[in-house]
Amino acid sequence: MPLVVPNPINLFIGCLMLLCPIFLSAAEIDCPECESKGDIACSARCKDGKVLCPGKCLKIEVGTWSQRGPDGKRWQEVGGGRRISDGHLGQIYELPNGQSTLADCPICKRTTRVTCKKCQGKSRITCPACKGTKKIDAADYEKFKLDRLLAKGFKRYRITGTGEVWAKITAKLGTKCFVTLDGGKSIEVEEGDLKELVAEASDKKIETPATPSQP
Ligand SMILES: [Zn+2]
Ligand SMILES: [Zn+2]
Ligand SMILES: [Zn+2]
Repeated sequence: MPLVVPNPINLFIGCLMLLCPIFLSAAEIDCPECESKGDIACSARCKDGKVLCPGKCLKIEVGTWSQRGPDGKRWQEVGGGRRISDGHLGQIYELPNGQSTLADCPICKRTTRVTCKKCQGKSRITCPACKGTKKIDAADYEKFKLDRLLAKGFKRYRITGTGEVWAKITAKLGTKCFVTLDGGKSIEVEEGDLKELVAEASDKKIETPATPSQP
């Protein structure tokens, strides 16, 4: 068998191909959004792949229910001095001709829950940051977080004594502003201590107008 000496050009290309993935993945990090799982929990309203029934049925989560009485039941006022107990959850109460009726909800079949469309009942969804690949470019992840803040209506502010923050004004009372920070914490700030940093934010952080990736 003749000894095959690799052609230097082939050898060079071969080495390049071996090294290539290393260069390509240099800026990639384990996706912090899903902790490298590739999927995340569905929305907060989705419990075990189910959400509240969109129908008109009675639900313990909707309306004002009394405390549990000696009969072990909770009650809700339904108008006209009438009350209805939690024994009728998943039923639809109506008063068509002064005659009250109760019928099982045709949508949820008295369960008050329906399969969540977003996750199709799986309770988890593909990670919106890494699209399920578990890895993400560090810069892309920063952009993902920025887009999400903008989509939620957050803006960049400088608050006297606090510094620069991403925040959203949720209410105003006189000169007092109620502000939610991007971490979820709520604070009160005097209007004069709050300065929106529109120009700086768009110069430094936002090169292209960010379009919300999620509705
Ligand atoms: Zn229902
Ligand atoms: Zn879901
Ligand atoms: Zn991810």
